[in-house]
Amino acid sequence: MKIYMNGELVPEQDAKVSVFDHGLLYGDGVFEGIRAYNGRVFELESHVDRLYDSAKAIALEIPMSRADMVAAVVETCRANGLREGYVRLLVTRGVGTLGLNPYLCETAQVIIIAADIQLYPAELYEQGLKIITAGTTRNLPEAVNPRIKSLNYLNNILAKIEAINAGCMEAVMLNSQGAVAEATGDNIFVVRGNNLLTPPVSEGALDGITRKVVMQLAAEEGMNVIEQRLSRYDLYTADEVFLTGSAAEVIGVVDIDRRQIGDGAPGAITRRLVDVYRKHANSNGTAI
Ligand code: PMP
Repeated sequence: MKIYMNGELVPEQDAKVSVFDHGLLYGDGVFEGIRAYNGRVFELESHVDRLYDSAKAIALEIPMSRADMVAAVVETCRANGLREGYVRLLVTRGVGTLGLNPYLCETAQVIIIAADIQLYPAELYEQGLKIITAGTTRNLPEAVNPRIKSLNYLNNILAKIEAINAGCMEAVMLNSQGAVAEATGDNIFVVRGNNLLTPPVSEGALDGITRKVVMQLAAEEGMNVIEQRLSRYDLYTADEVFLTGSAAEVIGVVDIDRRQIGDGAPGAITRRLVDVYRKHANSNGTAI
C-alpha cells in the first residue's frame, strides 16, 4: 500500500509520524472519512470543504490548495488501484515542542490512506442495529464544536465503550439538554408517517455529508424532511429510526434501550433509502 505524505507517495512501512507531532501528543488535527464506489470518489469536494472548515475552526493552515487536495486524494486512490473502498484524509498540526503552543509547530502534515472499509456485516442491514443511549454527553458546541471533525474523538470513544459494554455496536449521544445529537460515528434520523426528522447540527452533531445526501434523496422521494429537536421519547416512539455515515451508509435501527422500534425490523422507508442511497453513491463522484 502507498500512503500519501506531504506531497509524496511512500510505502506503508515508511509512512511514519514523529512522536512530537501534535496530532499524536494532543489530538491536534482534523480528518475526513471518504468512500470510493465504482471508480469514483463520492462527494469528494464536500469532504474537502468540510476538512478546510474544520481546519479553519482550529486555526490550522493546510499547506495546499483545495484543488490540490482533491487531486491528491484521486492520485492516492489511483496509485493503490482503489476503485471501491475508504479514504482516510488527515491533517495534523505537525511536529512541535512538548508544550501546547500550536504556533511552534512546523508545517501541518497531510496524510492520505486509501484502504478497504470494514462495514457493518451485511446481515445487519437486513436485521437492523440494536443501540443504546450513552451516558456520555456529546461535546458542548460552546467547547469543542462537534462540527469540527477533529482528531480528538475521545468523546465519541467514551460513548462507543458504553455501547460495546452493553453488547451494542452504536450509541446515541445526547447533548447537555438531553436532546438527541447523533450517534458516535453517524447521524440519526427518525421516520414518522411521511416525515423524516433529524436534529439540526446545532444540537451537537457533525454536519454529515451522508446526512445531506439522504435529506436530498428523501425529498426527491416525496418525503417531508424536517430538522427539529428530538428527545429519547421521539426515538422510542418512532415508526423507523436509521443512522447515516460515509462508512455505514444508511442502516436501520430496530431497538433502542430495549424499546423495539416499529415492528422490530428495518422499515419500508429505511429500506428504500438504503437502496436509493447505494444507487446514487455508485453512480456519482469524482472519477479516479
Ligand atoms: N457523526 C460523527 C461523529 C461522525 O464521525 C461521522 C462520520 N464521519 C458522521 C456523523 C457521519 O458523517 P458523514 O456522513 O459525513 O460520514
